[in-house]
Amino acid sequence: MSLAHVKHWVFDMDGTLTVAVHDFAAIRVALEIPPTDDILTHLAALPAAEAAAKHAWLLAHERELALGSVAATGAVELVRDLAARGCRLGILTRNAQELAHITLQAIGLADCFAVEDVLGRDDAPPKPDPGGLLKLAQAWDVAPAEMVMVGDYRFDLDCGRAAGARTVLVNLPENPWPELADWHAKDCAALRQMI
Ligand SMILES: [Mg+2]
Repeated sequence: MSLAHVKHWVFDMDGTLTVAVHDFAAIRVALEIPPTDDILTHLAALPAAEAAAKHAWLLAHERELALGSVAATGAVELVRDLAARGCRLGILTRNAQELAHITLQAIGLADCFAVEDVLGRDDAPPKPDPGGLLKLAQAWDVAPAEMVMVGDYRFDLDCGRAAGARTVLVNLPENPWPELADWHAKDCAALRQMI
């Protein structure tokens, strides 16, 4: 299969469509999370009151980042091109859904995604779990094998693999996970040349 024939595209958001700005190490320090722990998994295991307080802090912190979002190289052109070709486009992010909408507005792509096709961390189990991708496959009535998952991190690729979708790694000069990525492009501008 060629990428030119793919009609169903799901994108990670932070670091894929935007320039990555999250300082996860600083977030872990602020929330007293051990350096090697996954942030969302750690918060999920806390007592309810503490988890709620820390989620609120995270949301406020991430809202500031979302408002200042900057599009990654070639991302706006790629997404607009796919939308113009009639492709179905979704977002699967570990960020919060409301912040995903703020981010898409900030980079000028909000009109390219149906509101219900933007899945945040409360809409599906976080990647690498394939649940969000499978949810979109069902909503779009398409086999996962007909979809591609585009991301900048191994969670995105693991999620795509687990769902049975094709995978694209972007925004890394080299591909550290060749066994997980069906395609690799150094940025979204290079990916656009492949469609
Ligand atoms: Mg990312």
